[in-house]
Amino acid sequence: MSNMEISSILQGGYHHPLARQWQAQRQLTKAMLMYPIFITDDPQANVPIQALPGQRRWGVDRLKEFLDPLVLKGLKSVILFGVPFNCQKDGRGTPADDPEGPVISAIRKIKELYPSVYIATDVCLCEYTSHGHCGLLHEDGTIDTEPSVERLAQVAVAYAKAGAHCVAPSDMMDGRIRAMKRALMDAGLGNKCTLMSYSAKFASALYGPFREAAGSAPSFGDRKCYQLPPNAKGLARRAVKRDTDEGADIIMVKPALPYLDIISDAAQIAPDHPLACYQVSGEYAMIVAGAEAGVYDLKTMAFEACDSMLRAGATLILTYFTPQFLDWLEV
Ligand SMILES: [Zn+2]
Repeated sequence: MSNMEISSILQGGYHHPLARQWQAQRQLTKAMLMYPIFITDDPQANVPIQALPGQRRWGVDRLKEFLDPLVLKGLKSVILFGVPFNCQKDGRGTPADDPEGPVISAIRKIKELYPSVYIATDVCLCEYTSHGHCGLLHEDGTIDTEPSVERLAQVAVAYAKAGAHCVAPSDMMDGRIRAMKRALMDAGLGNKCTLMSYSAKFASALYGPFREAAGSAPSFGDRKCYQLPPNAKGLARRAVKRDTDEGADIIMVKPALPYLDIISDAAQIAPDHPLACYQVSGEYAMIVAGAEAGVYDLKTMAFEACDSMLRAGATLILTYFTPQFLDWLEV
């Protein structure tokens, strides 16, 4: 006769692998993965990125060899980052919406090759401005908000016109969500293009490998006056609320792993929106490096990290592990 209380025994509920799966509120599936890819302006490029093991910069003419095997394995969506080396950069990021530029060319190419793949495009100016900042600047180097927002909205409309299913502003300028939604509507694209806001994007130390990949480090100063301070829970909550009010269709938190509390907050503040999180370059590089150092098994750690994001409330994950997950997941 056991003296234990009935309520003491939990293990009966998860002794079987299938019963362990049922403990999740949501399980990772291929449809939840969005793969960030770097498109450069040499159409033949296929260049490994040192700081991001396994990732490359691709030219438009090489996209078929790159994406064919992934689409075959069930790749559902990509987010494109333009990495121009040969363009003339200026103060307002003129090359961002060059119709012959890497992003617009890649949108057209991917649509033609894979009509069912969902194409999101990162929208920012830093890869295209001479100063490397994400908006237009006053003479003193501070952000000039209104023309920045106007210019970003133009770029978003150009990507949507080229056929992007989603535009995703990562610049963190105030008011850009409202301006983009309005500009998409005015262009007749309001009902044809999703607006995914990098709402709570923090000034993180984890963007280092991305800056090598995209060549997007600012030429002076930093981005602390527009990206959120890492300690700022309240600001993040206000930003999520503002962006839902301004017409964002999807909310994003970036980075993911050190900001799980923010993902959880966003899930409460915007419970009726899809919630994305970006497992950024430094998170990816850290997990890969830890596995190489023998700290843990790569696959186990990649799942544990992504499960923590789902547990916090994310419904969509931008991750460089997408190709591996397509192998690891059945659906
Ligand atoms: Zn930027």
